[in-house]
Amino acid sequence: MRQQTIKREARAKPEAQEKNGEQAKTTAKAETKKQRRERLLTERQSSSTELARLQQQMKTEIEHDTEEGDPDVYEREKLLAVIRALEDKIESLNYALKALDAGHYGFCERCGNEIGTERLKAMPGTTLCVKCKAETERLLRRGFGNS
Ligand SMILES: [Zn+2]
Repeated sequence: MRQQTIKREARAKPEAQEKNGEQAKTTAKAETKKQRRERLLTERQSSSTELARLQQQMKTEIEHDTEEGDPDVYEREKLLAVIRALEDKIESLNYALKALDAGHYGFCERCGNEIGTERLKAMPGTTLCVKCKAETERLLRRGFGNS
């Protein structure tokens, strides 16, 4: 049974390599717009749920700790940071959904190259390819865009 699978894979590979130029296109199209939309919507849904939960937690904690200099201030800051990150994420997912409708989802906003399915799966809301993301972060660290 196992051997059979290996054989089949071995047979499929050279064929794929043969059409290497075509292969990139095929891989990108292997994932349909519908699949991408579904992933973005699922991601947004779970982020929204998490956000609502954290906001509720935040509210509850504030109501309970009204004294100044309470020891939970650090925890609350942390919670707030997570909330902000989630808000950013939802915003980027909304943006990605719009880009999907406009037909340019999956392409880097900076260089125009394909972002790649693997990266989109890991970070559905991303608008930059790995290279540009790294570059942008390097620029940010140097103080660009920090004004
Ligand atoms: Zn790029």
